[in-house]
Amino acid sequence: MSGVRTAVRRMKPYVPGKPVEDVQRELGLHDLVKLNQNENPLGPSPRAVAAARAAMAQVHTYPEGTARRLRERLAQMWNLPADWFLIGNGSDEVFRLLAEVYLEPGDRVVVPEPSFAAYRFVAELMGAEVVAVPLAGWTMDLPAMAEAAARGAKLLFLCRPNNPTGTVFAEADLRAALERVPPSTLVVVDEAYREFDETPFDSRTLVQDYPNVVIARTFSKIYGMAGFRLGYGVMRPEVLAPLYTARDPFSVNGLAVAAGLAALDDVEHVERTRALTREGKAYLYAAFQRLGLGYVPSEANFVLFDARRPAAEVFDALLRRGVLVRPCGSFGLPDHLRVTVGTPEQNRRFVEALKAALGEG
Ligand code: PMP
Repeated sequence: MSGVRTAVRRMKPYVPGKPVEDVQRELGLHDLVKLNQNENPLGPSPRAVAAARAAMAQVHTYPEGTARRLRERLAQMWNLPADWFLIGNGSDEVFRLLAEVYLEPGDRVVVPEPSFAAYRFVAELMGAEVVAVPLAGWTMDLPAMAEAAARGAKLLFLCRPNNPTGTVFAEADLRAALERVPPSTLVVVDEAYREFDETPFDSRTLVQDYPNVVIARTFSKIYGMAGFRLGYGVMRPEVLAPLYTARDPFSVNGLAVAAGLAALDDVEHVERTRALTREGKAYLYAAFQRLGLGYVPSEANFVLFDARRPAAEVFDALLRRGVLVRPCGSFGLPDHLRVTVGTPEQNRRFVEALKAALGEG
């Protein structure tokens, strides 16, 4: 079809994974262990589900466009004003709005590589020029990224903990880098996996100290609400206000907001998930060591490991045994796979399947 924008024509379309139902039907599997998208294996908080169910009675009305109640709750939690919070249809919407509002065609965007694909995607969608800075020793090369930004960038994306490596950087190193980034570069710190990370890092003070810092968070990971599509950005009102001009006024639905509010109150569910993840990682590390496979110690709810053979083959062999993981070829790591930490039973099934899969090759 003619008339497609140049920026869109140049992009590679996103190829989503096969729906789980199709995989199960094709392979005749009934209990697939789904460890490919870093979801919470405990599911959502029962309190979030109950709140969404109660909110169903109001679905004939439009939601309050700015999710005011959730912003006020987050403001309390962060001890920042409510107009520092933008609620999005997943943090994906926050990234897209930042790109739509701040990027002209040809503007530069600095991204880490490998990292979450959405940063590159939203930049390319706006016709921006993407400068990818390789990780150094599995962590973000902050000095190199700051240098790339100093040559003139509108946006710089950071991911902490990083997907797919699970690695973090120190706050002091970020502060040193921020001193070298021009104030006109917005620095987006994507903290989708932040609640799993037990290292010190004060996002609140960062966003207060640096007017060009934006923090992104999500309800998709530790809160177990990926299907609701709920995330948020924290930033100064001067940075945030223009985003409302581009935003679909009803992008965040009332059920998600009600569930999000209840999820924030269920501290126990978060704690349980954190403990399960911590124990699961220890179990997976021990298994990788026994199998003689390298892995990257992770601050998130997934672990990147080196299969030392084509990941696509290992992926297929695991899938035939009913275990779905993420091969990392699309991240530029053709021998690596990423596995989400599951329940003890799911982790055990993954390790058994992996042993069998490696034995085949
Ligand atoms: N950031 C990172 C690093 C992610 O891995 C993901 C989801 N895989 C997201 C953001 C997207 O989160 P959301 O569901 O809130 O759009």
